[in-house]
Amino acid sequence: MSTLVMKFGGTSVGSADAINKTAAIVLEHAPKWDRIAVVVSAMSGVTNALVKGAETAACGDDKTYLDLHHDLKQKHIQAIDSLISSDSEKEALGKAINEILDEFSILCHSVFILGEVTNRALDTITSLGERISAQIVAAVLRQKGAKSEAVKSTELVVTDDNFQNAMPIMDATNHKVNVNLVPLLNDGVIAVVTGFMGATRNGITTTLGRGASDYIASILGLALKADEVWIWTDVDGVMTAAPNIVPDAKIIHELTYSEVGELAYFGAKVLHPQTIRPVVEGGIPLCVKNTFNPTCPGTKIVAEPSGKNGAVKAVTSIKNLSMITVEGRGMMGVPGIAARTFAAVSRQNANVLMISQASSEQSISFFIPSNKVNSVVKSLQDEFSVEIQRRDIDRIVSLDNVVIVSAVGAGMRGTPGVAARIFQALGESNINVVAIAQGSSECSISLVVMDEQSDDAVRQIHQKVIMKK
Ligand code: ASP
Ligand code: MG
Repeated sequence: MSTLVMKFGGTSVGSADAINKTAAIVLEHAPKWDRIAVVVSAMSGVTNALVKGAETAACGDDKTYLDLHHDLKQKHIQAIDSLISSDSEKEALGKAINEILDEFSILCHSVFILGEVTNRALDTITSLGERISAQIVAAVLRQKGAKSEAVKSTELVVTDDNFQNAMPIMDATNHKVNVNLVPLLNDGVIAVVTGFMGATRNGITTTLGRGASDYIASILGLALKADEVWIWTDVDGVMTAAPNIVPDAKIIHELTYSEVGELAYFGAKVLHPQTIRPVVEGGIPLCVKNTFNPTCPGTKIVAEPSGKNGAVKAVTSIKNLSMITVEGRGMMGVPGIAARTFAAVSRQNANVLMISQASSEQSISFFIPSNKVNSVVKSLQDEFSVEIQRRDIDRIVSLDNVVIVSAVGAGMRGTPGVAARIFQALGESNINVVAIAQGSSECSISLVVMDEQSDDAVRQIHQKVIMKK
């Protein structure tokens, strides 16, 4: 039995017009598959509004959430007014919207009284947008003649209780999917499932992080043993570089799981970074497609490349970083310095994006978001106060305004000369490289340059390494 999971993001359900396009896409593909599950985001802007309502209420503002309630009601009612012609459907949807938004106001009012918002409360509040959009999309599909029902992913995806950033528990999820979703699909119903959220074993609503509707789609893909998962968004696919930096960036037609892993890590905006894990586990191909340009083939992400791979497929950059260097002749051959360094960093909750250490062992450099730099340096100075006094460690220094530029492509593995071409491209433009790292997967090379040269570095690598095969 063939099974397809399709996810539509916030812009794909962001207006009546977009919802019509989404419905048309679903109906075009429905006859070609035995079972179709659709996952939807909230209408674009809605989740941000819900977050704002909760946060302002927590700060003692009992007016903003009421204004937002009003705006959200208008936005959704306007959409159903132009989408739905049946009076009874319209009435039912209007009632659902009112109930969900009343819940929003009641929850925000509680937050206002308490003067704080917990992560658990935030999850319940911010997930309300998907509960509305799923019902609207299902109603539109019914209006166009399909059998369709909205389904809450709180009934399907079981997670831990790490509110705001929950992780799925797959065996429990598989069970719920088999009980609550498979029978519907087997009946020929197009299920329209809420993205973003799941629930704990006790049924408390969780969210899996901002942008996690992608992740819900891939989790359902795994649970359903789907043949493919398609992510419909508002761009043509994963690009060879950010188009605002490289105007002639191209769509990448095929990426492997390991390549997209490196890209997600290095800040590609297209997919929620966890999305790839369930499809890798299930060996399920994942396609990225554009709702507003549906004939474009998009990007297909697969286990193994289908043909010969170009060496470097994409170049990305991460900005607003600082380099911290712990330096000292007395570090050589002393075990535990690296462990203590990173323990001190993690106590400040700073995420380390790249590490480089020369084999001389006289320094360790690593890269963190700049907003953490003061607390991390302080934490390192405390950790190593004895070593600094003994002059075993000479300096702990930071350098701001650095950028990691990373070239990604599985074809680099075993292709000699790729690094040379990258450095030649940079050298020709007088771009100074501050540090270098290559993962042992050989799927990416990352180098660090100063902020003012980083866009040029990306353009040079794009032009001289990616475009010139
Ligand atoms: N609506 C949620 C968000 O804006 C989830 C998603 O769209 O993927 O983060
Ligand atoms: Mg997204």
